[in-house]
Amino acid sequence: MAACRDRKRIQRLMTFFRLVLAAMLMSALPAHGADRTIYLTFDDGPLNGTSNILDVLAAEQVPATLFMVGMHAEASVSNKALVRRAKAMPLVTIGNHSYSHAYNHYRHFYSDTEGVVADMLMANAVLGLKPAVHARLPGRDVFRLPSMSKDDNSLGPAQAGREDPDYEFVAASGFYLYGWDHEWVHKDNGEPVQSVDHLVSEIDHLFGYGRFAKPGKLILLMHDEMFQDSFDGKTQLTNLITALKLRRYAFGTIQSYD
Ligand SMILES: [Zn+2]
Repeated sequence: MAACRDRKRIQRLMTFFRLVLAAMLMSALPAHGADRTIYLTFDDGPLNGTSNILDVLAAEQVPATLFMVGMHAEASVSNKALVRRAKAMPLVTIGNHSYSHAYNHYRHFYSDTEGVVADMLMANAVLGLKPAVHARLPGRDVFRLPSMSKDDNSLGPAQAGREDPDYEFVAASGFYLYGWDHEWVHKDNGEPVQSVDHLVSEIDHLFGYGRFAKPGKLILLMHDEMFQDSFDGKTQLTNLITALKLRRYAFGTIQSYD
């Protein structure tokens, strides 16, 4: 009888220790995730593809920033509705990506500082954004934040020097400027280049060896047009987010980046 009671006591004790061990492991996991944060960013919308992005973000409940182009927001009734829908989503931040997107003539655009500032302010008006506005300059991987400043490495030092007053004046006009750390690249027709598996392995590699603008924080650049139905955009984005969740990456809001 006594031996039987002892065995039961030992079993209870073992169960208790197993629970304690499980609790310790569980509490260790989020801490691991918190120092590997991914910031999903989507540029150039509203476009064909934006509505799929919003569907997936709502289904997966992850935060993201959509850097929108004022001219695209004005282009149609359905685009205006997409802006309204995105603004109503608590996990979505609308960012400013200029009014004109520099008409894709970047050097010309950045030769006129007042014009750049006016273009950014016009997009604020169209998108209904008030300072401080989270923004990404068209065609430029530039950061201007209270905590850090970084120029576009793809520009030569002379061109970067010429454009510096643009970045400074835009920042001083009530904008936080964000570049990016890695891109899910697309072809000219908008089709994604890397497979989801390939992109995830690139991200793993970067967290192992890469240097980000801020340690432990990866800003991922994507473009709305990549997620249109003809490229199976909903599935692709869902697969990416699922894979990143499985690897226990955290997803950050752009407000938490600064
Ligand atoms: Zn763009």
